[in-house]
Amino acid sequence: MLVVMNHLATQEQINYVVESIEKRGYTARTIPGGERVSIGILYNKGSVDASLFQALPGVKEVIPITRPYKQVSREFKPDNTIIRIGNLTIGGKNLIIMAGPCAIESEKQAMTIANHVASSGAHIFRGGAFKPRTSPYSFQGLGEKGLQILAKVRKETGMPVVTEVMDFQNFDLVEEYADIVQIGTRNMQNFSLLRRAGKAKKPILLKRGMAATIQEWLMAAEYILEEGNTQVILCERGVRTFVNHSRNTLDISAIPVVRKESHLPIIVDPSHAAGIRDQVEPLSLASVAAEAHGLMIEVHHAPDEALSDGAQSLYPDQFDILCKKIRAMHALFDK
Ligand code: PEP
Ligand code: MN
Repeated sequence: MLVVMNHLATQEQINYVVESIEKRGYTARTIPGGERVSIGILYNKGSVDASLFQALPGVKEVIPITRPYKQVSREFKPDNTIIRIGNLTIGGKNLIIMAGPCAIESEKQAMTIANHVASSGAHIFRGGAFKPRTSPYSFQGLGEKGLQILAKVRKETGMPVVTEVMDFQNFDLVEEYADIVQIGTRNMQNFSLLRRAGKAKKPILLKRGMAATIQEWLMAAEYILEEGNTQVILCERGVRTFVNHSRNTLDISAIPVVRKESHLPIIVDPSHAAGIRDQVEPLSLASVAAEAHGLMIEVHHAPDEALSDGAQSLYPDQFDILCKKIRAMHALFDK
């Protein structure tokens, strides 16, 4: 249930509504909106009697929340969430491009790729320091050393950095270095990690689980918002299907569905969806056409030597051409 206040409602009237909600044993969550304040009613078991709040001073209307993901839903917050990182915004009309290698391998590798992607117009640098690998014998990432390299890339290029946190015990460390903390597909339902992300001061990039429905994904985001962090970016990265012509199947329809269901920004990672470099360009352009708020693309200057995901990493020249096409495609929708 959502109690929507009049746009002229006073702070006292808002406080009074909050008290009335809490007096009845529910939790009130105030959501500042562009025009007016709304107050969500949470932790109700069964339905709430709307007439209890409808007649209170300053109340415009009481709307039922029909979705299980309450705070994530558009019913709860009709206007888009805009996430600010320095001068950048994610979730508005602009398109954000995140790019970089799968894993940070060395300072030289990271700086080389960062300079390439920055000159092509990438806004945010990506790179894993803690890598979730299928095999324990594969390169696991440089750990804290990788985070230090990311900090250096940020200092030298001015690009904010996004990197993955794999477990609860390294959260503080990753949060200290990252501008955006990524939760990967394999951890989408790691609920203790999600709760910790909800206490973070940094925005969270939440990837869709490889076999998660959109409802499960939005419920995962709900954990983060429920703990107090409303800065969540959703990332579609393909789901596991029966096909073998690509690593995963990019679910383009997730973009309009998430945009309709939620106020949170949605970006697309075509690289992990494709697994094959040739498919990255068409999937990127399709995502922009479907009005994703951004893209996350793997790029490597020497993909044959990459320690992970070389086959899906674009060469810098390919990324440069792709950025030009992305901008042209986005201009068509930039009303
Ligand atoms: C990644 O972005 O480096 C990654 C491991 O992606 P995913 O969690 O989508 O597999
Ligand atoms: Mn990768």
